[in-house]
Order: sequence, then structure tokens, then C-alpha cells
Amino acid sequence: KDQVVIVTGGGQGIGRAIAQTFAREGAKVVIADIDEEAGSENVQLIKQHGGYALFIKTDVTSEQQIQHLINETIQQFGQIDILINNAGIGHTESIYTIDVKDFDRVIATNLRSVFLCSKYAALDMRKRKNGVILNIASTRAFMSEPNTEAYAASKGGIIALTHALAMSLGPDGIRVNAISPGWIEVRDWQKKTKATQPHHTMEDKKQHPVGRVGQPYDIAEACLYLASEQAGFITGQNLTIDGGMTKKMIYVE
Ligand code: NAD
Repeated sequence: KDQVVIVTGGGQGIGRAIAQTFAREGAKVVIADIDEEAGSENVQLIKQHGGYALFIKTDVTSEQQIQHLINETIQQFGQIDILINNAGIGHTESIYTIDVKDFDRVIATNLRSVFLCSKYAALDMRKRKNGVILNIASTRAFMSEPNTEAYAASKGGIIALTHALAMSLGPDGIRVNAISPGWIEVRDWQKKTKATQPHHTMEDKKQHPVGRVGQPYDIAEACLYLASEQAGFITGQNLTIDGGMTKKMIYVE
């Protein structure tokens, strides 16, 4: 309650739900997204429900823009209590043809951004010896489909970065954890003008041990818990939220 929360990629998808969930609980939410239309739309949605949100246009691949995000947040609200590193992009391409520029772009967006946002947010959090950082990784940090090297490497990097940060920042009262979502259906969480993606099928549901695909709220509610005082003994961890998919043993009949 009353805490200042930054959600990167908070304009759409999982980040949209995370921002709305924290706003519902009374937090002051800063939505940091490269997409102004998406970010402003979510601010409006939060305000309509009586919550408090501010959009700060940010490209998380830019160190300068991240510094601006942190400075502006402190200027507006005095401090940062919770940072949720959620912004990310996918990329699927053969290792034989992928250009190193594309590999670098995925790493800069998904991994380097977590390092930079954490660095500048922690510099503020340590002043009060209090803070929480949550990093959205993926089950693809642990298992893969073909042609996903850049994305998988970026997410695996987040898992390692999470425990490294937890060790460095623990003495300053800052807890750092990761969440690894499995299949999360974000179709209904995109900005209005975005073309709709195909919906999941019955087959997609059935292959999950819990009998459904994930929803953004499945991730948002876990963020709420990991950011709370009740989770004060949890740091350096990864919480997988995937309906059981990564625990499923598969044999061909
Ligand atoms: P999404 O595309 O619906 O939303 C991502 C948001 O991030 C968008 O609003 C986009 O504008 C923003 N963004 C992209 N690049 C940015 C940049 N350079 N700077 C600032 N903002 C930027 O995606 P999503 O499915 O909600 O994914 C959110 C996170 O969850 C990502 O890190 C993704 O890798 C992870 N994830 C998603 C799933 C899934 O099934 N949806 C599964 C595992 C992990």
C-alpha cells in the first residue's frame, strides 16, 4: 500500500496486469514502456478503477532513458520501493541465419535492461535499506524449442543475474527474485489498435497439467506476494508459474 512501483513493459500483456494489480492494492505505479499508446491506455484503465498511475516513456535498451525513468520517479514520488523488470521481446530464428545484431538486440532488451534498471533503482533503495526487485524470466531459461538461442540465453541470464544481485544487494535490505512464466495468454491485454492474435486451442489447454493456459493475473498475483513482507525470507529464487508444464514427463505412446 502506498508504495512506489516501477513496471517496465507495463503497457501491455503481463506488465499491464502487474501494473493494474499493484494499483488495485493502492500502490503508485509507474508504467515504463517504449509504446506510448499502450502505456497511456493502461494509465487510463487504472485511473478509471480509482488507482494511481503515471506513464514514463522508456526504451529499456537505453541507459540514458533508464536513468531518466529513475530520476523522474524519484522527482515525482520521492523514492522507489519495488522494481519489476518485465519488458521483453521474443525472437525465433535459425542459428545458421540469425544476424548478431538481432542476438544483441534481444540481449539488450531482455537482459541488459534488468542489469541497468536494477543498478539505478538499487542506488535509491539502499538509502532506506529497503527494496524489492522482481525479474520476469521464462521457462525457456530451462528448456527450449529449436531456433530460440537469443531469447533462451537472455532468460537464462536473468536467472543468474537474479541470484547475483540478491547476494550483492541483500546487505542493503533489497530482495531480488525471478518469476518464470510458462504459456501466458496475453491476447486480451494488448492495446486497442493492436491486431488480435489467434486464441489458444483446446489442445493447448489439455496439454497443461492444470488443464488451462496461464493468464497475466497468475503472474501478477505472484508478484504481489513476492513483493510483500510475508515473502521477507525469500531472495535469489526463481518461481516457475507454468501450470506444471516443465514438470511433465513426455513419452511418445
Ligand atoms: P507483450 O508483448 O504483451 O508486452 C511487452 C511490453 O513490453 C509491451 O508493452 C512493449 O511495448 C514493451 N516493450 C518492448 N520492448 C521494450 C523496450 N525496449 N523498452 C520498454 N518497453 C518495451 O509481452 P508479454 O507476453 O506480456 O511479456 C512480458 C514479459 O514476460 C517478457 O519479458 C516476456 O519475455 C515474459 N514472458 C512471457 C510469456 C508469455 O507466454 N506471454 C512467457 C514467459 C515469459
